[in-house]
Amino acid sequence: MSRNFVTPIGDEGIYTLDTGSWRTFKPIMNKDKCIECGICMSYCPVGSITGNEQKIYTIGYEFCKGCGICAYECPSQAINMAKEGD
Ligand code: SF4
Ligand code: SF4
Repeated sequence: MSRNFVTPIGDEGIYTLDTGSWRTFKPIMNKDKCIECGICMSYCPVGSITGNEQKIYTIGYEFCKGCGICAYECPSQAINMAKEGD
């Protein structure tokens, strides 16, 4: 499913932000280290991390901008930032 991440602010009016294209580093989640706390989902500024009823958290890369906040905030060091394309 394709979504548009838009902003209504600015001289140009509403426009689409392709935040996924900003990424030079990519978060990789190690499920073995994940303690299923959901903190990464709470902190992601573009809503790229989702969780289901079973507390399985997944990073979606369509809008992930590679900021690294999820990796920084993870209490279990379950997310590492890797160079995009590696
Ligand atoms: S913050 Fe870390 S431990 Fe918590 S759900 Fe996210 S990846 Fe798992
Ligand atoms: S790197 Fe930033 S944008 Fe990507 S999932 Fe983590 S917090 Fe969200």
